[in-house]
Amino acid sequence: MDKNKALEILKTFSIKLITKKKKTKRVGDIMKELTHKGYVSDDRRYLYEVLKELIKFEIPLKTENPLRYERTEKQYTIEEVLSKIIRTTDKKMSRVDFDGDLISMNSLRYQTFSESGIICKTCGIEGKFFAKERNVNSSCSYHFNLYAINKKGNEVLMTKDHIHPTSKGGRNNLKNLQTMCVYCNRDKADLV
Ligand SMILES: [Zn+2]
Repeated sequence: MDKNKALEILKTFSIKLITKKKKTKRVGDIMKELTHKGYVSDDRRYLYEVLKELIKFEIPLKTENPLRYERTEKQYTIEEVLSKIIRTTDKKMSRVDFDGDLISMNSLRYQTFSESGIICKTCGIEGKFFAKERNVNSSCSYHFNLYAINKKGNEVLMTKDHIHPTSKGGRNNLKNLQTMCVYCNRDKADLV
């Protein structure tokens, strides 16, 4: 797994890690810390693997204010969210009111779902709904996450994947982005 890829995946878990000079932590300790601070992952094993990869690169990690998602009850349809995309670089201009919460609708992620579709390019799982979520421990505003439901009935986060990895010169633009579920994104990362 590529270093940047691992960090990117970690972001999908909404864990912010800062590096600290020459003070390497053990993965177990990081996991313990995350649990202690209230972070709960639906897929701890996966998270563990990602952290282990990062340790391999000898990046000293320190968890900083680990984050947990809070979600509003209402689920939004694909159409409800994707029809509100605003293609602007002006953050203020991009805000749309969703039941009392202003959400920036100009992200490349939403545009990827709109252009590339809501189906994982690798395994074919299909995004079913958007959840309005934000990090509990921060003053961040809400954003939408797209979820599919797997055969076991569990939610699977849908992500944007760089077709040509940014670490290998791939651009961060729509032409180089495709929809992929978080698991296939991880498996692809292993091959890069
Ligand atoms: Zn997939």
